[in-house]
Amino acid sequence: MLGETDLFVSQIGFGASPLGDVFGATDPAESTRAVRQAVASGINFFDVSPYYGRTLAEKRLGNALIGIRKNIILSTKCGRYGFDSFDFSASRIKRSIDESLTRLQTDYVDLFMAHDIEFGSLDQIVGETLPALQEVQKSGKARYIGITGYPLAILKAATESQRVDAILSYCHYNLLITDLEDDLEPFAKAQRIGLINASPLHMGLLTEAEVPVWHPAPAGVRSAAKQVVELCRAREVDPAVMALGFSIGQPYVASTLVGMSNSEQVETNLRALDFELDPVLLLELQQIVAPVKDVVWASGLSQTFDVKSCPER
Ligand code: NAD
Repeated sequence: MLGETDLFVSQIGFGASPLGDVFGATDPAESTRAVRQAVASGINFFDVSPYYGRTLAEKRLGNALIGIRKNIILSTKCGRYGFDSFDFSASRIKRSIDESLTRLQTDYVDLFMAHDIEFGSLDQIVGETLPALQEVQKSGKARYIGITGYPLAILKAATESQRVDAILSYCHYNLLITDLEDDLEPFAKAQRIGLINASPLHMGLLTEAEVPVWHPAPAGVRSAAKQVVELCRAREVDPAVMALGFSIGQPYVASTLVGMSNSEQVETNLRALDFELDPVLLLELQQIVAPVKDVVWASGLSQTFDVKSCPER
Protein backbone atom coordinates (compact mmCIF):
# COMPACT_ATOMS: atom_id res chain seq x y z
CA MET A 1 0.00 0.00 0.00
CA LEU A 2 1.26 3.49 -0.79
CA GLY A 3 1.37 5.27 2.58
CA GLU A 4 -2.13 5.92 3.85
CA THR A 5 -3.77 5.86 0.43
CA ASP A 6 -5.85 2.99 -0.85
CA LEU A 7 -3.45 2.57 -3.77
CA PHE A 8 -2.27 -1.02 -3.71
CA VAL A 9 0.63 -0.46 -6.10
CA SER A 10 2.58 -3.39 -7.53
CA GLN A 11 6.07 -3.96 -6.15
CA ILE A 12 7.51 -3.23 -9.61
CA GLY A 13 6.05 -0.18 -11.32
CA PHE A 14 6.26 0.75 -15.01
CA GLY A 15 8.28 3.93 -15.56
CA ALA A 16 7.03 5.39 -18.82
CA SER A 17 9.75 7.99 -19.43
CA PRO A 18 11.33 5.76 -22.14
CA LEU A 19 8.06 6.10 -24.10
CA GLY A 20 9.08 9.74 -24.59
CA ASP A 21 12.30 8.54 -26.28
CA VAL A 22 14.42 9.99 -23.48
CA PHE A 23 16.80 7.01 -23.57
CA GLY A 24 16.75 6.78 -27.39
CA ALA A 25 14.10 6.14 -30.04
CA THR A 26 11.44 3.57 -29.21
CA ASP A 27 8.82 1.87 -31.33
CA PRO A 28 5.29 2.93 -30.25
CA ALA A 29 3.74 -0.41 -31.31
CA GLU A 30 6.33 -2.28 -29.26
CA SER A 31 5.89 -0.01 -26.24
CA THR A 32 2.12 -0.55 -26.41
CA ARG A 33 2.77 -4.30 -26.35
CA ALA A 34 5.08 -3.79 -23.36
CA VAL A 35 2.45 -1.79 -21.46
CA ARG A 36 -0.26 -4.36 -22.12
CA GLN A 37 2.02 -7.27 -21.28
CA ALA A 38 2.99 -5.56 -18.03
CA VAL A 39 -0.68 -5.15 -17.05
CA ALA A 40 -1.44 -8.75 -17.98
CA SER A 41 1.50 -9.87 -15.80
CA GLY A 42 0.37 -7.99 -12.70
CA ILE A 43 2.18 -4.64 -12.96
CA ASN A 44 -0.53 -2.13 -12.04
CA PHE A 45 1.40 1.10 -11.39
CA PHE A 46 2.35 3.40 -14.29
CA ASP A 47 4.26 6.67 -13.94
CA VAL A 48 4.63 9.38 -16.57
CA SER A 49 5.04 13.16 -16.90
CA PRO A 50 4.44 15.87 -19.51
CA TYR A 51 8.22 16.41 -19.33
CA TYR A 52 9.08 13.01 -20.84
CA GLY A 53 9.58 13.66 -24.53
CA ARG A 54 7.71 16.95 -24.08
CA THR A 55 4.29 15.24 -23.83
CA LEU A 56 5.17 12.32 -26.15
CA ALA A 57 5.27 9.75 -23.32
CA GLU A 58 1.87 10.82 -21.99
CA LYS A 59 0.33 10.59 -25.47
CA ARG A 60 1.83 7.15 -26.12
CA LEU A 61 0.88 5.84 -22.69
CA GLY A 62 -2.66 7.19 -23.12
CA ASN A 63 -2.96 5.27 -26.41
CA ALA A 64 -1.50 2.10 -24.93
CA LEU A 65 -3.99 2.18 -22.06
CA ILE A 66 -7.14 2.45 -24.18
CA GLY A 67 -9.66 0.03 -22.72
CA ILE A 68 -7.51 -0.92 -19.70
CA ARG A 69 -7.02 2.41 -17.93
CA LYS A 70 -9.44 1.50 -15.10
CA ASN A 71 -7.37 -1.61 -14.28
CA ILE A 72 -4.30 0.39 -13.35
CA ILE A 73 -2.97 3.04 -10.97
CA LEU A 74 -1.87 6.00 -13.05
CA SER A 75 0.51 8.72 -11.95
CA THR A 76 1.56 11.88 -13.76
CA LYS A 77 3.25 15.12 -12.81
CA CYS A 78 3.27 18.89 -13.26
CA GLY A 79 5.62 21.85 -12.99
CA ARG A 80 8.42 20.53 -15.24
CA TYR A 81 7.93 20.76 -19.00
CA GLY A 82 11.44 20.69 -20.50
CA PHE A 83 15.09 20.30 -19.51
CA ASP A 84 15.10 23.87 -18.22
CA SER A 85 11.40 24.72 -18.42
CA PHE A 86 9.59 24.92 -15.11
CA ASP A 87 6.39 26.54 -13.91
CA PHE A 88 5.15 25.71 -10.43
CA SER A 89 2.48 28.45 -10.34
CA ALA A 90 -1.05 27.53 -9.26
CA SER A 91 -2.52 28.56 -12.61
CA ARG A 92 -0.08 26.34 -14.54
CA ILE A 93 -0.71 23.38 -12.23
CA LYS A 94 -4.47 23.65 -12.80
CA ARG A 95 -4.03 23.87 -16.56
CA SER A 96 -1.49 21.06 -16.49
CA ILE A 97 -3.86 18.48 -15.04
CA ASP A 98 -6.46 19.15 -17.75
CA GLU A 99 -3.83 18.85 -20.48
CA SER A 100 -2.49 15.60 -19.01
CA LEU A 101 -5.95 14.09 -18.68
CA THR A 102 -6.60 14.82 -22.36
CA ARG A 103 -3.34 13.21 -23.45
CA LEU A 104 -3.84 10.23 -21.15
CA GLN A 105 -7.45 9.84 -22.37
CA THR A 106 -8.89 9.63 -18.88
CA ASP A 107 -10.86 11.84 -16.50
CA TYR A 108 -8.71 11.33 -13.41
CA VAL A 109 -5.24 10.26 -12.36
CA ASP A 110 -4.58 8.30 -9.21
CA LEU A 111 -1.51 10.31 -8.30
CA PHE A 112 -0.52 13.84 -9.35
CA MET A 113 2.92 15.05 -8.33
CA ALA A 114 4.91 18.27 -8.55
CA HIS A 115 7.89 17.25 -10.71
CA ASP A 116 11.48 17.96 -9.59
CA ILE A 117 10.59 20.52 -6.97
CA GLU A 118 14.22 21.47 -6.33
CA PHE A 119 13.92 23.63 -9.47
CA GLY A 120 11.25 25.78 -7.83
CA SER A 121 11.64 28.04 -4.83
CA LEU A 122 10.73 26.28 -1.61
CA ASP A 123 8.44 29.20 -0.70
CA GLN A 124 6.46 28.79 -3.91
CA ILE A 125 6.30 24.99 -3.66
CA VAL A 126 4.99 25.14 -0.09
CA GLY A 127 2.84 28.27 -0.39
CA GLU A 128 1.42 27.90 -3.90
CA THR A 129 2.15 24.60 -5.67
CA LEU A 130 1.09 22.17 -2.96
CA PRO A 131 -2.12 24.11 -2.17
CA ALA A 132 -2.89 24.01 -5.93
CA LEU A 133 -2.33 20.25 -5.95
CA GLN A 134 -4.69 19.96 -2.98
CA GLU A 135 -7.34 21.86 -4.97
CA VAL A 136 -6.86 19.51 -7.92
CA GLN A 137 -7.32 16.63 -5.49
CA LYS A 138 -10.54 18.16 -4.15
CA SER A 139 -11.85 18.55 -7.70
CA GLY A 140 -11.56 14.77 -8.18
CA LYS A 141 -9.17 15.06 -11.14
CA ALA A 142 -6.45 13.49 -9.00
CA ARG A 143 -7.13 10.99 -6.25
CA TYR A 144 -3.86 11.59 -4.39
CA ILE A 145 -0.98 14.06 -4.59
CA GLY A 146 2.76 14.07 -4.12
CA ILE A 147 6.15 15.51 -4.97
CA THR A 148 9.21 14.26 -6.79
CA GLY A 149 12.81 15.40 -6.89
CA TYR A 150 16.45 14.44 -6.43
CA PRO A 151 17.89 16.16 -3.31
CA LEU A 152 16.46 14.30 -0.33
CA ALA A 153 16.60 17.31 2.01
CA ILE A 154 14.27 19.37 -0.17
CA LEU A 155 11.73 16.55 -0.40
CA LYS A 156 11.57 16.55 3.38
CA ALA A 157 11.56 20.34 3.71
CA ALA A 158 8.61 20.70 1.34
CA THR A 159 6.45 18.20 3.17
CA GLU A 160 7.19 19.18 6.75
CA SER A 161 4.36 21.73 6.73
CA GLN A 162 2.20 20.59 3.80
CA ARG A 163 0.52 17.22 3.65
CA VAL A 164 1.20 15.01 0.63
CA ASP A 165 0.27 11.38 0.08
CA ALA A 166 3.46 10.27 -1.67
CA ILE A 167 7.08 11.17 -2.33
CA LEU A 168 8.94 9.88 -5.39
CA SER A 169 12.72 9.78 -5.04
CA TYR A 170 15.07 8.57 -7.77
CA CYS A 171 18.67 7.32 -7.91
CA HIS A 172 18.84 7.14 -4.10
CA TYR A 173 18.29 3.42 -3.59
CA ASN A 174 19.95 0.87 -5.81
CA LEU A 175 23.22 -1.08 -6.04
CA LEU A 176 25.18 2.21 -6.23
CA ILE A 177 23.51 4.16 -3.46
CA THR A 178 21.30 3.53 -0.43
CA ASP A 179 21.12 6.92 1.29
CA LEU A 180 17.32 6.98 0.91
CA GLU A 181 17.33 4.94 4.10
CA ASP A 182 19.32 7.47 6.15
CA ASP A 183 16.83 10.31 6.34
CA LEU A 184 13.94 10.18 3.92
CA GLU A 185 12.65 6.73 4.79
CA PRO A 186 12.42 7.41 8.58
CA PHE A 187 10.78 10.78 7.82
CA ALA A 188 8.24 9.30 5.40
CA LYS A 189 7.49 6.47 7.81
CA ALA A 190 6.92 8.88 10.68
CA GLN A 191 4.67 11.10 8.53
CA ARG A 192 2.96 8.05 6.99
CA ILE A 193 3.81 9.28 3.52
CA GLY A 194 4.04 6.66 0.80
CA LEU A 195 7.50 6.25 -0.75
CA ILE A 196 8.16 5.45 -4.40
CA ASN A 197 11.70 4.54 -5.43
CA ALA A 198 12.56 5.27 -9.06
CA SER A 199 15.55 4.41 -11.24
CA PRO A 200 16.75 1.08 -9.80
CA LEU A 201 19.12 0.90 -12.80
CA HIS A 202 20.50 4.37 -11.95
CA MET A 203 18.81 5.74 -15.08
CA GLY A 204 20.30 3.07 -17.29
CA LEU A 205 23.86 2.94 -15.89
CA LEU A 206 23.33 -0.59 -14.56
CA THR A 207 22.63 -1.93 -18.05
CA GLU A 208 24.75 -2.57 -21.15
CA ALA A 209 23.12 0.29 -23.05
CA GLU A 210 25.06 3.39 -24.02
CA VAL A 211 24.86 6.11 -21.37
CA PRO A 212 22.63 8.97 -22.57
CA VAL A 213 24.44 12.30 -23.02
CA TRP A 214 22.31 14.03 -20.39
CA HIS A 215 23.21 11.53 -17.64
CA PRO A 216 24.47 13.52 -14.61
CA ALA A 217 26.47 10.78 -12.83
CA PRO A 218 30.18 11.55 -12.41
CA ALA A 219 32.81 9.41 -14.17
CA GLY A 220 33.69 7.34 -11.08
CA VAL A 221 30.07 6.24 -10.65
CA ARG A 222 29.75 5.36 -14.35
CA SER A 223 32.92 3.33 -14.21
CA ALA A 224 31.79 1.42 -11.08
CA ALA A 225 28.41 0.74 -12.71
CA LYS A 226 30.18 -0.64 -15.79
CA GLN A 227 32.23 -3.00 -13.61
CA VAL A 228 29.05 -4.11 -11.81
CA VAL A 229 27.45 -4.99 -15.14
CA GLU A 230 30.58 -6.81 -16.31
CA LEU A 231 30.88 -8.88 -13.13
CA CYS A 232 27.18 -9.82 -13.27
CA ARG A 233 27.63 -10.97 -16.87
CA ALA A 234 30.75 -12.94 -15.95
CA ARG A 235 28.66 -14.75 -13.32
CA GLU A 236 25.84 -15.30 -15.85
CA VAL A 237 23.45 -13.10 -13.94
CA ASP A 238 21.38 -10.49 -15.79
CA PRO A 239 22.56 -7.14 -14.34
CA ALA A 240 19.07 -5.60 -14.60
CA VAL A 241 17.54 -8.48 -12.67
CA MET A 242 20.28 -8.27 -10.03
CA ALA A 243 19.87 -4.50 -9.66
CA LEU A 244 16.08 -4.56 -9.61
CA GLY A 245 16.08 -7.57 -7.29
CA PHE A 246 18.24 -5.58 -4.87
CA SER A 247 16.08 -2.42 -5.05
CA ILE A 248 12.74 -4.11 -4.51
CA GLY A 249 14.12 -5.51 -1.25
CA GLN A 250 13.72 -2.08 0.40
CA PRO A 251 10.95 -2.76 2.90
CA TYR A 252 9.22 0.64 3.21
CA VAL A 253 9.18 1.50 -0.50
CA ALA A 254 5.72 0.71 -1.89
CA SER A 255 6.77 0.45 -5.52
CA THR A 256 10.04 0.55 -7.45
CA LEU A 257 9.68 2.22 -10.84
CA VAL A 258 11.81 0.86 -13.65
CA GLY A 259 11.78 2.51 -17.08
CA MET A 260 10.69 0.11 -19.82
CA SER A 261 9.69 0.30 -23.46
CA ASN A 262 9.64 -3.25 -24.82
CA SER A 263 8.26 -6.68 -23.95
CA GLU A 264 11.68 -8.23 -23.46
CA GLN A 265 12.47 -5.73 -20.69
CA VAL A 266 9.11 -6.37 -19.04
CA GLU A 267 9.72 -10.10 -19.10
CA THR A 268 13.28 -9.78 -17.78
CA ASN A 269 12.40 -7.30 -15.05
CA LEU A 270 9.54 -9.41 -13.75
CA ARG A 271 12.11 -12.11 -13.02
CA ALA A 272 13.40 -9.85 -10.23
CA LEU A 273 10.27 -10.63 -8.21
CA ASP A 274 11.41 -14.14 -7.32
CA PHE A 275 15.12 -13.73 -7.92
CA GLU A 276 17.33 -14.88 -5.07
CA LEU A 277 20.26 -12.51 -4.61
CA ASP A 278 23.53 -14.41 -4.34
CA PRO A 279 25.10 -12.95 -1.16
CA VAL A 280 28.65 -13.65 -2.40
CA LEU A 281 28.06 -11.80 -5.68
CA LEU A 282 26.33 -8.98 -3.80
CA LEU A 283 29.35 -8.58 -1.53
CA GLU A 284 31.70 -8.48 -4.55
CA LEU A 285 29.51 -5.84 -6.21
CA GLN A 286 29.45 -3.81 -3.00
CA GLN A 287 33.26 -3.92 -2.89
CA ILE A 288 33.43 -2.54 -6.45
CA VAL A 289 31.00 0.23 -5.57
CA ALA A 290 32.47 1.11 -2.14
CA PRO A 291 34.77 3.99 -3.29
CA VAL A 292 31.83 5.82 -4.93
CA LYS A 293 28.94 4.55 -2.80
CA ASP A 294 26.32 7.22 -2.07
CA VAL A 295 27.97 9.78 -4.37
CA VAL A 296 25.34 12.26 -5.55
CA TRP A 297 25.28 15.16 -8.00
CA ALA A 298 23.91 18.66 -7.74
CA SER A 299 20.37 19.25 -8.96
CA GLY A 300 18.15 22.30 -8.82
CA LEU A 301 18.48 25.85 -7.62
CA SER A 302 21.65 26.47 -5.62
CA GLN A 303 19.91 26.91 -2.27
CA THR A 304 18.34 23.50 -2.49
CA PHE A 305 21.46 21.39 -3.10
CA ASP A 306 22.21 18.76 -0.51
CA VAL A 307 25.35 17.35 -2.05
CA LYS A 308 26.88 15.15 0.64
CA SER A 309 29.82 13.79 -1.20
CA CYS A 310 30.83 14.25 -4.77
CA PRO A 311 34.62 13.88 -4.89
CA GLU A 312 34.86 14.39 -8.63
CA ARG A 313 33.07 17.71 -8.84
P1 NAD B 1 15.88 3.22 -14.71
O1 NAD B 1 16.94 3.10 -13.69
O2 NAD B 1 14.62 2.51 -14.50
O3 NAD B 1 16.55 2.84 -16.12
C1 NAD B 1 15.83 2.92 -17.31
C2 NAD B 1 16.72 2.49 -18.46
O4 NAD B 1 17.05 1.10 -18.32
C3 NAD B 1 16.06 2.64 -19.82
O5 NAD B 1 17.05 2.96 -20.78
C4 NAD B 1 15.52 1.25 -20.09
O6 NAD B 1 15.40 1.00 -21.47
C5 NAD B 1 16.60 0.39 -19.48
N1 NAD B 1 16.14 -0.94 -19.05
C6 NAD B 1 15.03 -1.24 -18.33
N2 NAD B 1 14.96 -2.56 -18.13
C7 NAD B 1 16.02 -3.13 -18.75
C8 NAD B 1 16.49 -4.46 -18.90
N3 NAD B 1 15.85 -5.49 -18.36
N4 NAD B 1 17.63 -4.65 -19.59
C9 NAD B 1 18.32 -3.62 -20.13
N5 NAD B 1 17.93 -2.33 -20.03
C10 NAD B 1 16.79 -2.10 -19.33
O7 NAD B 1 15.62 4.79 -14.88
P2 NAD B 1 14.33 5.67 -15.16
O8 NAD B 1 13.58 5.19 -16.35
O9 NAD B 1 14.82 7.06 -15.15
O10 NAD B 1 13.43 5.49 -13.85
C11 NAD B 1 12.24 4.74 -13.84
C12 NAD B 1 11.01 5.63 -13.89
O11 NAD B 1 10.90 6.39 -12.68
C13 NAD B 1 10.98 6.68 -15.00
O12 NAD B 1 10.60 6.10 -16.23
C14 NAD B 1 9.98 7.66 -14.44
O13 NAD B 1 8.67 7.16 -14.61
C15 NAD B 1 10.35 7.65 -12.94
N6 NAD B 1 11.31 8.71 -12.59
C16 NAD B 1 10.84 9.88 -12.09
C17 NAD B 1 11.73 10.91 -11.78
C18 NAD B 1 11.19 12.22 -11.23
O14 NAD B 1 10.02 12.31 -11.00
N7 NAD B 1 12.01 13.21 -11.03
C19 NAD B 1 13.09 10.75 -11.99
C20 NAD B 1 13.55 9.54 -12.47
C21 NAD B 1 12.65 8.52 -12.77
